[in-house]
Amino acid sequence: MSAAARRLAREWDTIVAMIRIYCRHHHGARGPLCDDCRALRDYAERRLAKCPFGEVKPTCVNCPVHCYEASMRERVRTVMRFSGPKMLLRHPLLALAHLTDGKRPLSPKAERVAERIRARAAAAAEPGPDRRTNPV
Ligand code: SF4
Ligand SMILES: [Zn+2]
Repeated sequence: MSAAARRLAREWDTIVAMIRIYCRHHHGARGPLCDDCRALRDYAERRLAKCPFGEVKPTCVNCPVHCYEASMRERVRTVMRFSGPKMLLRHPLLALAHLTDGKRPLSPKAERVAERIRARAAAAAEPGPDRRTNPV
């Protein structure tokens, strides 16, 4: 397994562990996650699978072009705020690795991907040609 693949696997394990901690404390789930938390985990999994950064992915926390819809982003933030401090006790290795991964600067390749995403978003936000004034 490449270092990048290991990093991605670690990030996934970390987010799942954080959601578990949150779910256990807030929703009393001892076994499987409750429906809400499972939906959040599934959403994060889908975003991860479609992440445009691929092997040069930053941690989602430090992503310059965050792809989560606003409500899901807020939910993940809430989970991280609660579970982050508890990770050091429950999963110290994952917690330390996540801290280290989060400090890695964006690679030049990741910067280029981010630029492309921003340019596409800007182009999509521009109003299209007005057919009434620009008939072609
Ligand atoms: S938030 Fe950024 S790093 Fe995370 S999955 Fe979305 S695009 Fe990729
Ligand atoms: Zn839950």
